[in-house]
Amino acid sequence: MKSSFKLILLITFLLSVNSYGQYGSDRNAKSTSYSNDKPYETAKVKPIKSKKVKNVILMIGDGMGLSQVASAWVANHGKLNLDNCTYTGLSRTYCADRLITDSGAAGTAMATGSKTNYHCIAVDTNGTPLVSLTDLAHAGGLKTGIVVTCNLPDATPSVFCTNNIDREKTEEIAADYLNCNVDYILGAGLEKFNKRSDNRNLLDEMIEKGYQVCTSWDETSRINQGKVFSVLKEGQMPFARERGDLFAKACLHAIGLLNQNKKGFFAMFEGSRIDDCGHSNDMLRLVEEIFDFDKTIGMIMQWAEKDRKTLVIVLADHETGGLIMLDGDLKTGSVTGNCSTKSHSGILVPVYAYGPGAKNFTGFYENTDIFHKIVRLLKLNK
Ligand SMILES: [Zn+2]
Repeated sequence: MKSSFKLILLITFLLSVNSYGQYGSDRNAKSTSYSNDKPYETAKVKPIKSKKVKNVILMIGDGMGLSQVASAWVANHGKLNLDNCTYTGLSRTYCADRLITDSGAAGTAMATGSKTNYHCIAVDTNGTPLVSLTDLAHAGGLKTGIVVTCNLPDATPSVFCTNNIDREKTEEIAADYLNCNVDYILGAGLEKFNKRSDNRNLLDEMIEKGYQVCTSWDETSRINQGKVFSVLKEGQMPFARERGDLFAKACLHAIGLLNQNKKGFFAMFEGSRIDDCGHSNDMLRLVEEIFDFDKTIGMIMQWAEKDRKTLVIVLADHETGGLIMLDGDLKTGSVTGNCSTKSHSGILVPVYAYGPGAKNFTGFYENTDIFHKIVRLLKLNK
């Protein structure tokens, strides 16, 4: 073999490795299917005529692209609570330094209105901390809440509560929860707060900050006023089939407490584990996670229908798995999809809105616009 030909082969090989590394594609992605003979009933809620936005509930399905939603819709025999959202839009998810984002940079865009670098947590591209929606809402006299089905030091909850240049610094991020302005916080990852390498017990420190600290749902559910810091489990929160209806119960509990505030509230509720099922290309668990998320959406919409002053926004931070729905049957609830990656993809993600101000979320726009739209509708001062 001529040496120049060898060189060309080497360059071709290196280029292909680089492109796979950068875009996170995975050749082991696979076809996956689900079948469901017990569809759940969905709520029918009326559109809200009033224009006043007192509260905003932002619901993030981590990694929940349009194919994921469509698959769950087929699996539930052609109905979802999300169908009640008459206003829909599309959000572009790329971050400052990459086309394919992670939840840190995507969450930062929505929480702070700034595109930042991959793996950043509410800091700009120079590493300077950014002001988030929860900071602005708190300064405006609103109560704030975060409920997630993952570890609290994980990316999405952290961008609304903390600042860090690297999402992997989970002990630093956990400690930064002490500096946040959020009134109701619920998630997992207990060991990052009480079994730390620096021997600090952050649970005690949260009590000193005025929080009622809980490590079980039973304890949490008995609280009927004041600030809540609830870390339910060491490690990761279980998947929906083991978790039961905890997410819905926790979101409604948070709403009950936050709504005691006359000026209103801002809450972020995340169906966090949809993303994990996208990474593992597991359609079974994926559909179960979206069912859990959608059932919670239904309960929240029914609450918002009565309240009439609450805007509910449901969206994704990015798509995970590069899922395409290829086949299915609305009568049997069977659905088959094919994943093209074990990582995130760069496709636009859907945004759904219900309630006063919902029409502001039509069209297509940057993920940073989510922040600006919410700031404007809640009349927050930047
Ligand atoms: Zn992910």
